[in-house]
This record gives sequence, C-alpha cells and structure tokens, in this order.
Amino acid sequence: MDKLTVEKNLLKQRSHLLNRMSASSEKIHQRKGGKKTDFSEQAMEIDSLDALFEIDNASRHELHKINTALNRLSHNEYNLCAYCGKTISEQRLLALPCTDSCSDCCSNDCA
Ligand SMILES: [Zn+2]
Repeated sequence: MDKLTVEKNLLKQRSHLLNRMSASSEKIHQRKGGKKTDFSEQAMEIDSLDALFEIDNASRHELHKINTALNRLSHNEYNLCAYCGKTISEQRLLALPCTDSCSDCCSNDCA
C-alpha cells in the first residue's frame, strides 16, 4: 500500500469536508441573522437549522476520523489495528480508509 497515495486521498477528503463544513456554517449564520415574524416560518427555520447542525456534527466526526488516520499514517501505524495490533488487510483499508481496527476488532467504529 502506497503511503503517499493514501495520504493524498485523505487530505483531499479532508479539504472537501472542510469546504462543506464552512458552507453549512455560513448558512447557519445567514439564517440566524434573518428576521422572521411568521410563526410557521420560524418553525420551519428551526427544522432546517437542526438538519444543518446534524450535517455539521456528522462532518465533525468524519473530520476526526480523517485526522486520526493521518496521524496514524505519520507514525507508520496506519495499517495496524489500534485494538489488537495486527495488520489490517489492504482490502479493508481501501474500502474504509479511515478505519483503525481490523475486521476482527471492528465493533463500534465500523462505518
Ligand atoms: Zn484487531
């Protein structure tokens, strides 16, 4: 597995994510600044704000995973399972570039 290629892909993924996050936080700020008097419109605003925050939380989680993967890569631990220390198969890393566990230990962070 080519470390540089993996790193490049992760960095690309991270910059996409950061773009998306800044776009959604801009939307949140724009909406917060708007004045709405109609109650039903207000309720709709709140719903869509919730949706935006949810996207934001998911992005934050993803960002954390990418950063962890990059960190592991820089310590030459990228293909080592964080739980049992065995080598994670290349096939699995290609499918889940941000995973830190082998298929045996894959429990909580398996997405
Ligand atoms: Zn393991």
